Amino acid sequence: MNTETPSTEQIQDVVIVGGGTSGWMTAAALATVLKGKYRIRLVESDEIGIVGVGEATIPMIQRYNQILGIDENEFMRETQGTFKLGIEFVNWGKLGDRYMHGFGTIGQEMWTVRFDQYWQKYNMQGKVGKLEEYSITRMASKKNKFMPADLSVPNSPLNQITYAYHFDASLYAKYLRKFSEARGVVRTEGKITQVVQRERDGFIEAVVLENGTRVAGDLFIDCSGFRGLLIEQTLKTGYEDWTHWLPCDRALAVPCESAPVLTPYTRSIAHKAGWQWRIPLQHRIGNGHVFCSQFTSEDEAAATLLANLDGKALADPRLIKFTTGTRKQAWNKNVVAIGLASGFLEPLESTSIHLIQTAIARLINFFPSKAFNPIDIQEYNRQSRFEFERIRDFIILHYKLNQREDSAFWKNCAEMAIPDTLTHKMEMYRASGRLLRVDDELFAEIGWLQVLEGQNMPIEGYHPLVDLQSEEGTLEYLESVRQVIAKCVDVMPDHAAYIAKHCAAP
Ligand code: FAD
Repeated sequence: MNTETPSTEQIQDVVIVGGGTSGWMTAAALATVLKGKYRIRLVESDEIGIVGVGEATIPMIQRYNQILGIDENEFMRETQGTFKLGIEFVNWGKLGDRYMHGFGTIGQEMWTVRFDQYWQKYNMQGKVGKLEEYSITRMASKKNKFMPADLSVPNSPLNQITYAYHFDASLYAKYLRKFSEARGVVRTEGKITQVVQRERDGFIEAVVLENGTRVAGDLFIDCSGFRGLLIEQTLKTGYEDWTHWLPCDRALAVPCESAPVLTPYTRSIAHKAGWQWRIPLQHRIGNGHVFCSQFTSEDEAAATLLANLDGKALADPRLIKFTTGTRKQAWNKNVVAIGLASGFLEPLESTSIHLIQTAIARLINFFPSKAFNPIDIQEYNRQSRFEFERIRDFIILHYKLNQREDSAFWKNCAEMAIPDTLTHKMEMYRASGRLLRVDDELFAEIGWLQVLEGQNMPIEGYHPLVDLQSEEGTLEYLESVRQVIAKCVDVMPDHAAYIAKHCAAP
């Protein structure tokens, strides 16, 4: 006899719709965490395929790999991966400007306030080096050096090296598929042509494939990409469009041959009506031009992209259309949308794969019983929205804070109205260089600082408590940090040499 009340009755069947990065990341994580106690089935269509362009990540992905027990060197070999210490931004403030958003910390612990606040005061007076000189990841990037943190050297910048990965998106999905299938995930290939809903409340009961196969489930995870097969096409959840803040609506993607130097960072070059990414992999470079169709044509965008490659193009540019924004609810009834089905923010700060990762973590946190408790769903959706909105603000900052005079697109961006949350951050920084991370928003003070400073935002004052320390002592300390970082970078191996030694693809 079943003694459980309906509210605690466990779900048994989890169905993941879609086998792109989000589908397979979800499958791999759930297969690991649910320990074979739930049936997990993934449906994907070879005919539809995957978007296949998400190839740059941020450091938190290491945590995902650790939870799954993935061996870094094997993972890098199988995905033709390279290491990433940050993102270089070219032409973003003014034409010709160049700065890097490097991962990890800047400077060292200091006395009363954060390192950068001391730097700000003496930078205003022209008495210190450039901000980048106090960041090991930025300085290592400049010299194409890489190594993981060396934890055996206490208090050294060498144990503060923070990094992420670049990888081939198709190989990544294949890698995670092998991982998931080995842990019991059942894959079904085929195109879903029908979605069956429960009459009583509209919950999804099953998806039906073109060949008539019926896949039933209790919990459905919609990883079907931009189409949002369950969350939107079936449940009509609604989408909040943020195009008025982030007007780019298209991307052209093209791989090209490798360049002689294997750079350990993503590059983002601002063009006339958008920007171009460059992601170096072991076997090729991934490139793409994100642009605004109101300000440039597809032909013009393709010509710009092809004119700015470091090697011969290996295919014709592929067009991807998108609308920036977020699903009104990422979780609706018994459907949780993860990946592109949940919303889209352009890849300027490589945040989409991270959003997949945090959505999976959140789903595990709020893993439902058959009751699908509305309060849990509400909280899941609140957290999801908060995360999307804060990343959105950070990306808008890159556009808003430009001083380019050469195109109508950039002038429009500089003049556009921005969310109040972003105005607040910018104004606080302008007044005194102060930055505060709100709750657990993704980008910390150091990330904001690098973009604000890198794109020439002036500040009018500095933190008053900086004056508690003597000028001489502070400048001496700052200089010692700068020098130690330079020495550390000297002993780091070359990025390509590190890969050749540890994780080169066969
Ligand atoms: P998709 O890859 O589109 O997969 C959808 C899946 O659903 C496929 O398997 C498809 O077969 C299946 N499917 C759909 N309909 C059906 C159906 N009817 N029946 C059966 N199966 C179906 N993210 C980053 O973190 N870093 C980046 O550098 C980055 N760059 C990007 C650049 C661009 C231009 C774009 C558009 C995105 C970028 N992203 C990036 C985002 C990243 O690509 C996605 O977050 C990631 O690939 C996840 O996609 P997905 O799995 O949600 O969707």
